[in-house]
Parts: sequence; structure tokens; C-alpha cells
Amino acid sequence: MKTDAFIGLGSNLQEPAAQLAKAVAELAALPNTTFIAQSPFYASRPVGPQDQPDYVNGAVWLSTELAPHTLLDQLQAIEQVHGRERLRHWGPRTLDLDLLVFGNQTLNDDRLTVPHRELPNRDFVLQPLLDLKPDLTLPDGVAIATLRAQCPDNWLRRLPSPAYP
Ligand code: ATP
Ligand code: MG
Ligand code: MG
Repeated sequence: MKTDAFIGLGSNLQEPAAQLAKAVAELAALPNTTFIAQSPFYASRPVGPQDQPDYVNGAVWLSTELAPHTLLDQLQAIEQVHGRERLRHWGPRTLDLDLLVFGNQTLNDDRLTVPHRELPNRDFVLQPLLDLKPDLTLPDGVAIATLRAQCPDNWLRRLPSPAYP
């Protein structure tokens, strides 16, 4: 059985837009997974520590037979390929891949909270989701469009497409 999975991508080191473009291709190549679409890329102000470069963010829509924790393993493996180092909480990174939404499933354990816990507070996540699927709703029935309208402003700027060479 296939499930629609929405992945959030973020980078603010080492040519962020190119990091994202490469990650989109890697996500599309995951086993037992079909690539549906990618969002435009956006520039945004950092969350947390402000002494770091602006981010580039986007989202990818997959349809996958992978179980959610297996998908998280795959996301973390791709982060590693991109040289992700966890030096401080919400610090700068070459690539962050977060599982935002996994079908209508709600998960909450020590490795995985789905839908992603910060979803309602992040325009740089909500806007790309809205671009991908304007009628997307969370398992509790709340529409992404509603959350986007209520979300704080993080200085989101849509980047020209393509945003990479
Ligand atoms: P944030 O979660 O606020 O966006 P972050 O992405 O910088 O912060 P990471 O260092 O990438 O945080 O991940 C920390 C841990 O979060 C991971 O080890 C993972 O187990 C856990 N985690 C919980 N829920 C999720 C999720 N939905 N997607 C990705 N990781 C998750
Ligand atoms: Mg994150
Ligand atoms: Mg993360």
C-alpha cells in the first residue's frame, strides 16, 4: 500500500539551492517510492539562532511503500551524504530533511512526531505544502491553507525558478 509523504527540505550552507536540488533527485530515487512533485524554493530567515545565513526551503511530495521509520532512516542517510553535522540546536546545516506529513497517520515516539510538531509555526514549510497540494489537510482535519493564513511571518521570499545552475 502506498502512502502520500511530504518532506520538508532546508539548507543554509554550501550553496543551499544546489543542496536542495540534489536532495530532490535523491528523494525521487528512494526505493519503493514514486516522486509526485516538488515545490518552488523559498528563502527564509533562520529559526532560533540569528547569527547564521538565511535558509533555502522547499518541499517534496512522494508516494511510498516505506514505513514511516524506514523513510526517516532514508532521510537521515541522505542528510549524512550531504555532510550534515549537528553542532547546536537549530544551527546552520547543509541539509535538513523532515517528514512533515505521512498520509493521515499521527505518530509520536522518541524518533518521530508526525505531522511535524513545528508545522503550524513555519511559513517556510506551510507555503511549499500549499504549492504542492492546495487542499492538503492534517489528520485532525485542519487545512494547511488555514494554518498558512494564521502563521507568523518569517520573511519568506520565493526564489526564481530554477534557483540553481
Ligand atoms: P526541527 O525538528 O525543529 O525542524 P531539526 O530539523 O533541526 O529541528 P534535527 O536535528 O534534524 O532537528 O532532528 C532531530 C531529531 O528529530 C531526529 O533525530 C529525529 O529522530 C527527530 N524527529 C522527530 N520527528 C521528526 C520528523 N517528523 N521528521 C524528522 N525528524 C524528526
Ligand atoms: Mg527541521
Ligand atoms: Mg530535521
